[in-house]
Amino acid sequence: MAVIKLAFKKSQIIVTDSIIKKSINLKSDLAHLKAHLKKSLKPEHEAIIIEGQTQSSFSNAAHQIDGKLSDVRLILMDETKLPILTGEAVDKTGLADAITAFYDHHTWHLDYHGVDSGKKECSKESLLTVGNGFFGLRGAFVEAKAGDDHYPATYIAGLFNQLATTIDEHELVNEDFVNAPNAQFITFRVNGGRWFSPEAENIIDCYRSLNLKTGELTIKVLASVEDGKEILITTKKVANMKCRHQYALSYELIPVNFSGEIEVCSQIDGSIINNGVARYRSLASKHLKVKEVISREAVAYVDSVTVQSDIEVATVAWLDVPQNMVIKNEVEEEIAIQKVRFDAKVNESYLFEKRVAIYTSLETDGNLFQHAQNTARENNYAMAKKESASSWGELWQQIDIEVTGDWYSQKLLRLHNFHLMVSASPFANYDLDASIGARGLHGESYRGNIFWDEIFILPYYILHFPEIAKQMLMYRYKRIPAAKDYAKEHGYKGAMFPWQSGLYGDEQSQVFHLNPLSGKWGKDYSSLQRHVGLAIAYNIWYYYHVTEDKEFLKQYGMEMLLEIARFWISKAIYNPETKRYDIHKVMGPNEFHDKYPGAEEGGLTNNAYTNMTLAWFLKQLARLKLHLPANKLGELMEKVGFTDTEWQKADDIMKHLALDIKGDGTIGQYEGFFALQEFDWDYYRGKYGNIYRLDRLLKAEGKSANDYKVTKQADTLMTFYNFDKLQIDRILQELDYEMPSNYLEANLHYYLARTSHGSTLSRIVHAQLATEIEDYELAWQLFSEALDSDYNDIQGGTTAEGIHTGVMAATLLVTLNTFAGVNVRQDMLTINPKLPKTWEKLAFKLCFKGVNLEVVITRDNVNILADSDILLEIEGQFFQCFGKNCKKVQRFIC
Ligand code: BGC
Repeated sequence: MAVIKLAFKKSQIIVTDSIIKKSINLKSDLAHLKAHLKKSLKPEHEAIIIEGQTQSSFSNAAHQIDGKLSDVRLILMDETKLPILTGEAVDKTGLADAITAFYDHHTWHLDYHGVDSGKKECSKESLLTVGNGFFGLRGAFVEAKAGDDHYPATYIAGLFNQLATTIDEHELVNEDFVNAPNAQFITFRVNGGRWFSPEAENIIDCYRSLNLKTGELTIKVLASVEDGKEILITTKKVANMKCRHQYALSYELIPVNFSGEIEVCSQIDGSIINNGVARYRSLASKHLKVKEVISREAVAYVDSVTVQSDIEVATVAWLDVPQNMVIKNEVEEEIAIQKVRFDAKVNESYLFEKRVAIYTSLETDGNLFQHAQNTARENNYAMAKKESASSWGELWQQIDIEVTGDWYSQKLLRLHNFHLMVSASPFANYDLDASIGARGLHGESYRGNIFWDEIFILPYYILHFPEIAKQMLMYRYKRIPAAKDYAKEHGYKGAMFPWQSGLYGDEQSQVFHLNPLSGKWGKDYSSLQRHVGLAIAYNIWYYYHVTEDKEFLKQYGMEMLLEIARFWISKAIYNPETKRYDIHKVMGPNEFHDKYPGAEEGGLTNNAYTNMTLAWFLKQLARLKLHLPANKLGELMEKVGFTDTEWQKADDIMKHLALDIKGDGTIGQYEGFFALQEFDWDYYRGKYGNIYRLDRLLKAEGKSANDYKVTKQADTLMTFYNFDKLQIDRILQELDYEMPSNYLEANLHYYLARTSHGSTLSRIVHAQLATEIEDYELAWQLFSEALDSDYNDIQGGTTAEGIHTGVMAATLLVTLNTFAGVNVRQDMLTINPKLPKTWEKLAFKLCFKGVNLEVVITRDNVNILADSDILLEIEGQFFQCFGKNCKKVQRFIC
């Protein structure tokens, strides 16, 4: 096997290449090393081997580079995507086994060496978040208090609160995703000195590892405290996946070079505010009022309530201390404190455990303190870890997508699967009145709100855990009254779902928006993205289509669909000149465009994505009607008051919505888009480098993105993400538009050249479409960038404020829909794999129309294991499958 060896010697790296049989000396400089590897790595190289004695007790490949101690393995594996091994491991097990061990570890772990500051550190905390769908616990150091470098927040599904702030004489009401009391806090001090705080200058060495398989986060720190004293701190955290109310911490201290007095301080801090997003800091942020604080022996308790929404949050921490140590209890106004002082001996281990339980009045009735106290007492760390790992094991059985041949994609797909389960899981969300926010349970950006991003997320849950998807649809169902009020307020009928939805389902989008580049407030029209209602309709259809859950359709689904349809019927305006229906005053997904150049009012006419999706929806509605028994349909029509006239109008609108289509088949994003100025992409890229958010750049220059043909993300093209080309052909035919045969290519090329990918959702949509037009290289490039969105925080800071659940779910879906080629949108499941070049095998499970399927795709084979009889189409041929038996069959279509 061909390898490159790197031997670290003081300020030099000796690079030895087994292909060109030569050694060279490099300065210990990362940029040079990277450049050298870029130049020298050949496809034949199978691994990089690091030689030399590691300088860290936490990592076996830590060396001085750029004057600081770095885990070279972690840096180079992301850079080269090759296994990076230590000489020691290779000597011990041989190269092949060392490579296997590398894959086994790194495809199941997220590891960081060292500590950063600012957004870089906060984005690591987002990615190290542990949780179970009920709560998310940011992966901060437990000793950290909130500040610019650390943000140790706790979020609970559905916990929102509204506060008013007056800015420039405007009263703004903001509903926030409440940061709950911080019970993960624990720290220490030596000989009565300063309490330890995890600042870079106190940390000699640090290694953090999140085990995706078990959900356990381990943080090892070698810290320097007063007068050259060193102490080893090992923290472990587990958010119990089985018992949704519990998390457990284990905190071990070992004085490395001293004996002396150590005092440990554990807290539940109810004085926290929402402070995680700098641009919201001018808004009111104290959402909790602490009602009661108790610190009594092993038990600490903070009872708090959200000041406006009146939701009680009870947090209990049970502290276990080493034998013979005595807990000293203290109480501050909003903080329950437990302290332990002891004489520590050099090299002895002192282990503390904190078991925390959280209950809220949202999901639990009765005495929350009693519930929390009982739960906290129940499990020690080892038990919580075991219980949780076994539940994670059950989840991985369902959700894992195994990729052979590309360990890096494998790792990131698992990371994405992990964080979706942290955001909503079958162990927690079965009865919660909540859906998944755009930033999961991981951060405060977008205030925990639920957006149309559900269209990228729910299909994933529908295929794996339909019950949880149903629960999220019920979140919307329960908010129909609010959506009806919202429609009425704007002069429409039916249900107009808000662009941003939180606790009540009223509109949470801002009316004014602060441009962080110019520091100016401007009007925010983003709520005009009425297509969110169509995303809800799409998900209802998808759920019913995949599960055939008639009960849901009868009880809830159809009612929602009718109210959504009624809204659109009331919004469509017949234009006698064109003899078509127009939809005015909307925005498409492209948030760069919110009004016409120079217009006073926000809104655009005939957004193609909206109109085409609406045409599809109205057609499906008429079809779904036939799935209900006549009496039930009658009852529903009566309940909703949906009239025959409305059915007729729906049918007419479906056939006559207006689109703006050029001769070559390019579909105008909206009426007037083609008349806008072309944008000088090269000039702006040259000027700013990163132009993802060119709307803000232009605004700061006194210009407006509304004047240019620029797109933040897939808009018209989003239609092609949601539907097969065949379905779109039909939509356009029924709308009576004639299209050239290559119109998909025409649209993809046209819009890709005009898209900045200012939303993480953009690339993944384009990756799917590029595969459809067989541009596999482009598809792979966009898919890889989408995979990296959070892991490498490609937007430069947004991951610090929470993960992006939409793109995480979409990367998993595109892997299934596009690379595995599984299409669940027709009556019969079809599989047409298009594995990326490096992928040798893809294995996964899903559930389609009640049949559980295990699918293994290799370059030559598709293997199916089905738990009931199912007819499938694989690469154009029909197969009848049951168990392992897949028989090719003829299918006659009459
Ligand atoms: C995107 C929206 C998305 C929102 C929340 C925005 O940047 O443009 O499409 O819904 O983020 O993720």
